[in-house]
Amino acid sequence: MTEPGEPEDEGGDPACWLRRVCPACGRLAEEDPPTSCAACGAELDPG
Ligand SMILES: [Zn+2]
Repeated sequence: MTEPGEPEDEGGDPACWLRRVCPACGRLAEEDPPTSCAACGAELDPG
C-alpha cells in the first residue's frame, strides 16, 4: 500500500541555504552567493 501523500516540509529548500554556508568557517551568509562571508570574509561561490 502506498500512502496518499507524504507531508513535505515547507518553508524552504535546504539547498537554498546550504549554498550560503561559508566553506571556511561554516557560518551562514546573509545573502545568496556570490558574496563574502561576514564573519571571516571568505568568498562564497554560487556554484
Ligand atoms: Zn566564513
